[in-house]
Amino acid sequence: MLDKVLIANRGEIALRILRACKELDIKTVAIHSKVDANLKHVKLADEAICVGPNPSSQSYLNVPAIISAMEITNASGVHPGYGFLAENADFAERVERSGFVFIGPTADVIRVMGDKVAAIQAMQRAGVPTVPGSDGALNSDPKALRAAAERIGFPVIIKAAAGGGGRGMRVVESADALVNAVSVTQSEALAAFGDGTVYMEKFLQNPRHVEVQVLSDGQGHAVHLGDRDCSLQRRHQKVLEEAPAPGIPDAARQRVYESCVNACIQIGYRGAGTFEFLYQDNEFYFIEMNTRIQVEHPVSEMITGIDIVKEQLLIASGNPLSITQQDIVFRGHAFECRINAEDPVTFLPQPGTIRAYHAPGGNGVRVDSHIYNGYVVPPHYDSLIGKIITYGSDRASALSRMANALDEMLIDGIKTNIDLHANLVRDPAFQEGGVNIHYLEKKLGL
Ligand code: ADP
Repeated sequence: MLDKVLIANRGEIALRILRACKELDIKTVAIHSKVDANLKHVKLADEAICVGPNPSSQSYLNVPAIISAMEITNASGVHPGYGFLAENADFAERVERSGFVFIGPTADVIRVMGDKVAAIQAMQRAGVPTVPGSDGALNSDPKALRAAAERIGFPVIIKAAAGGGGRGMRVVESADALVNAVSVTQSEALAAFGDGTVYMEKFLQNPRHVEVQVLSDGQGHAVHLGDRDCSLQRRHQKVLEEAPAPGIPDAARQRVYESCVNACIQIGYRGAGTFEFLYQDNEFYFIEMNTRIQVEHPVSEMITGIDIVKEQLLIASGNPLSITQQDIVFRGHAFECRINAEDPVTFLPQPGTIRAYHAPGGNGVRVDSHIYNGYVVPPHYDSLIGKIITYGSDRASALSRMANALDEMLIDGIKTNIDLHANLVRDPAFQEGGVNIHYLEKKLGL
């Protein structure tokens, strides 16, 4: 078993990882930037090291400083959380070359999945359904581009192979705009990701975002933990998630689960991972795989009773999966609201001091957050300050618990999106279940 883990992250996920380590009797090392010295997990960790100044490029992304911190503290493994270095194959490689355990898949698998063109091809080989699209990367030959788009059918979407965070995508309605759109997306992708490779997919008009959580030990065993619906998005960023996705026929669901589990075994996947799909007209279409823990993992934990972060630690310690698919019982329904420090009108981040904080509670209410009275939300990082997760024996009861929890939560001193969530959980179409990925932006009049 890993005996000491360095947590290469901050905020709520760093605290989440710390708690899982403590439950498994694993010692913890927190790393932090200057401004983050007062983070809750930093105070609770066995050891803490400042790895650099506030900009993440000099702290949470500072690979030499992080490796040094592992050496100095004699940590055996590193948990990258999400964001920062979590899907950086070069980091995973350096960690393992330096003799430490990277808590996640092998660098090779991260690299393949980080290249969306390669990922789609790997999924097709493994029998996972993908979006109709170009056969691999696009070149700039106008004739070939037109032929591909006409075969797929307009509208199409041009996407950067190295894209992430909802950036590097462009919808094209007709042949006239195609050549220009491809070249603009190529240059944007090159500037943003250092890789100008783009590909083409059919643009699905009204899909939902449904994803499948998996655990795989890299030793030939894999299971799925069901699905999550993350269709409520703004600018391709998830806002509110639930598990399971409502109203999906069981046969379609089982088929896609099976393909994900097979793919894990075929690619030698190690750790927790998520297969993201667009779902439209009873069909699933793979869009990408996230090779890390996700923000929304708690909703799957609530309906399965499995601690995904603990499973990551167990797998990284070299243990074969201790659970089989038959052991996993799906029960009830869960929601997660992402609480952001942001202006409710402009959505701009709102750093500042939390003057008063009261967390909600009660039966079926979980709060994953690092904030406390007097905590200063710094301007340098993501605006996520916590997550409320509610569980119920059915969707309606989980949702009414969420409405109560949101009403109970009080955060004074900074602006948040709590009111937006309170409004959303009372929205008739959302209450009905199954809204598509455009619903939130339409509702917001964007
Ligand atoms: P990223 O890695 O940047 O998150 P994804 O490939 O996961 O990129 O896509 C992000 C979002 O963009 C999806 O959740 C969906 O809202 C939209 N999107 C991506 N591909 C398509 C498509 N083929 N048709 C319609 N919407 C799409």
